[in-house]
Amino acid sequence: MLTLRKTKAGFGLDLTEDAEAPPPNPGQVTVRVEHAGICGSDVHAYEWTDGYGFMVPHLPVVMGHEFAGRIAATGAGVALPAGTPVTVMPFVPCGTCANCTSGATRNCLRREAIGLTRHGGFAGFVTVPAANCLTLPDGVDTELGALTEPLGVGCEAVLTGEVGLGDTVLVMGPGTIGQAIALFARAAGAGRVLVAGRADGPRFDVMRQLGFTDLLDVAEAPLNDLVLAATGGRKVDVVLEATGHPPTIVDGLSVLRTGGVLVIAGIHPGPVSLPLTDFVRARHQLRGTHGCDRRNWDKVLTLLGRDPEAFRPMITHRMPLARGLEGFELARQRAASKVMLTP
Ligand SMILES: [Zn+2]
Ligand SMILES: [Zn+2]
Repeated sequence: MLTLRKTKAGFGLDLTEDAEAPPPNPGQVTVRVEHAGICGSDVHAYEWTDGYGFMVPHLPVVMGHEFAGRIAATGAGVALPAGTPVTVMPFVPCGTCANCTSGATRNCLRREAIGLTRHGGFAGFVTVPAANCLTLPDGVDTELGALTEPLGVGCEAVLTGEVGLGDTVLVMGPGTIGQAIALFARAAGAGRVLVAGRADGPRFDVMRQLGFTDLLDVAEAPLNDLVLAATGGRKVDVVLEATGHPPTIVDGLSVLRTGGVLVIAGIHPGPVSLPLTDFVRARHQLRGTHGCDRRNWDKVLTLLGRDPEAFRPMITHRMPLARGLEGFELARQRAASKVMLTP
C-alpha cells in the first residue's frame, strides 16, 4: 500500500509502496483510513526542526496522527463491528510503568505516539489498539472525524486557560489550533474572541467563515495598539498562544490583564526571555498545554456532533495521499489551513 513515511533524520518525507498493515492482534483493530490531516507538528518533523530527535530510533515510520476511517478487521476480544466509523487517539500508554499502574496513563513514561513513534494514518490501513478508537457520533463523517485531534488540542488549551463566561480572549495564531481554540473559547462562553495573526490572509479567511470577525493583523500595527483599539483600552482576560513563535509570548503578556492567564500551546523552536518584574507585579500565570486528555476527546465529539458543519470550513484543501508532498509544501508555506489527505 502507498504510505507517507519519515525514513531518515533530515529534511523530507518519502512516498513509497510499503507492506500491508499487519493483521490485528488480540485487543487491536485495523482501520481503513478515509481521511488524514497534515498537522503543524507533522510539518516540523518534515522540515526536521529541533525537537523531533525522539523519532530517530523508530524510523522508518508512517506519519499521520489526525485521522479517521472505518474498522476493517478486529483482533480477538474486540467488540467494534466492521465498518464502524472511528477517530483514533494517537497516544498509546504502555500500561505497566509507575504512572500507568497508578492510573495516570496520560503521564505514561514509555508512551508511544501513532504517526510519530509507531505507524500512523498516512496509509490505506493502520493497525492500532482498539482502546484508541472512538466511534464517531451520528452526523460526523470521517472527514470531520479527522479533525478531532487538533480540536482536542484546542479544547484542552481553553480548559487550561479557564476561559469563563463573558471573558475577552485573545487567540494568537490563526492556524488550525488557533481556530480550534477560538471555537472552544466561544463554546465556553467567551464574550469576545480576538484573533491575531501576521499577514495570514488565507487563515483569516477561515476564521471569518467560522464566524470570527475581530481579526488583528500584527503586520499592520503592534499587537498592543490593535488589542487596545479593539477593546476600548482594556486588557484581555486570557491569552491563548498557538503561533510557535517565541517572541509572541512577550507580546501576549503585554496585553494580558493583571492576574490573567496566558496558555502556551505552540511548539517553539527556541527559548524566550521574559520581563520578569512586570510578570511578577501583574501576577501573570503562564501555563503549558499539550495534547488532549481522554475525557476531553468525548467532549470534543459531543460538540462536533451538535453542529458538525460549523467545523467544516477548517478544511481548506483535499487531495489524494499520492499528492501528500504537495500538501506538506502548501501547509509549510501557510498557503493552506488544514490539508486533508485521502488514501
Ligand atoms: Zn496534530
Ligand atoms: Zn506507562
